[in-house]
Amino acid sequence: MANAPLTVNDRQFAWPTQPCVVICADGFDMAYLEAAEALDRAPFFARARAEGRLRGAKGAMPSFTNPNNCSIVTGQPPSVHGIAGNFFLEPGTANPVMMNDPSFLRAPSILAEFSQAGAKVCVVTAKDKLRKLLGHGLDISNAVCFSTEFAADVTEAEHGIAEAPIPFPIPSVYSAEVSQAVFAAGVSLLHSHKPDLMYLSTTDYIQHMFAPDEEGALAFTEMVDGYCQALTDAGARVVLTADHGMNAKFLPDGEPNVAYLQSILDLAAPGAKVILPITDPYVVHHGALGSFATVYLLPDDNIEAIAAELREVPAVELVITADEAVEVLELPRDRIGDLCVMARANAVLGTRRAEHDLSQLTRPLRSHGGLHEQGVPLVSSHNLDEWPDKVRNFDAFDIVLNRVEED
Ligand SMILES: [Zn+2]
Repeated sequence: MANAPLTVNDRQFAWPTQPCVVICADGFDMAYLEAAEALDRAPFFARARAEGRLRGAKGAMPSFTNPNNCSIVTGQPPSVHGIAGNFFLEPGTANPVMMNDPSFLRAPSILAEFSQAGAKVCVVTAKDKLRKLLGHGLDISNAVCFSTEFAADVTEAEHGIAEAPIPFPIPSVYSAEVSQAVFAAGVSLLHSHKPDLMYLSTTDYIQHMFAPDEEGALAFTEMVDGYCQALTDAGARVVLTADHGMNAKFLPDGEPNVAYLQSILDLAAPGAKVILPITDPYVVHHGALGSFATVYLLPDDNIEAIAAELREVPAVELVITADEAVEVLELPRDRIGDLCVMARANAVLGTRRAEHDLSQLTRPLRSHGGLHEQGVPLVSSHNLDEWPDKVRNFDAFDIVLNRVEED
């Protein structure tokens, strides 16, 4: 039975008339789809492309996981929901604060508002840190929300389900299986719980490890493609997008192509502090090296001179002030420093060499965070009445709820 539409964060969303599934395939650069399609290993995506149901979309900046997942579930950029990365500096102090707690969210999610209005909502994430952010505000008496990372620990009281429906063992959070389990659980929940809305969010471990045409990536893309078909066959409308793309970030000798900004500023502007918002508890596969950094300066620092100095660094592509970042990148002013720095497509930004553990990198570095990883795919299982003018990944719920042609 369809209820009235809901307005969430100034956008109106129709009440779902069939199960609506939004997938955030973490780090799923368009290149992964293209490589698998070219080898006939992604029939769902190939058909969607041929039928005009697959397009390029633009993600939020910085092109990291948490800001973009929060954008997708709120339908808004970070300037509205407040999550601008994993870290910021507490205003007026030198204390880095981790921004992965729901208390930092400034906007309700579409999932939470539908759940509070009586819709049945299921959320499955790979990483538990995202489960807490994305499950915030759900009415758990009528919802399911768990991470496959901690699938063994689910309880009815906290996660809305007594046992996670995952038919195979998960070796670790650094595996393809932790993401595959998200999809397997999604298909199972579609049958057992008949949700009105479902949100599935994977991890980008595979994309950090493998280039699009490597077997590890091709097998993963084929798996994702198959589950998109299975979810559609089970009666869902499916919209898949990604939080960010992924690019190779290494030199011809295989070493990471890094500019260590804190070391540069230790000489040019002592007291300035570089924050890398990619830093989080899961750094094994990227060494906390991404293509976006924000720099906090001292009150008397010459901001123009420091920006000019950073622009001279070969790996650096763009240096803008906080005001420009608020305007152009839709970032929240109080959660970024005085300058935002973005690396070139093939480069990343670090603090100091000694602060990055690169010994765990078993493969040439692939990462994200900058402008070159802002492009993502957006795929719909069903035809749309009309595409948005400029598609953003955080239009996913608008598309699945408002724009899909009726069956
Ligand atoms: Zn990600």
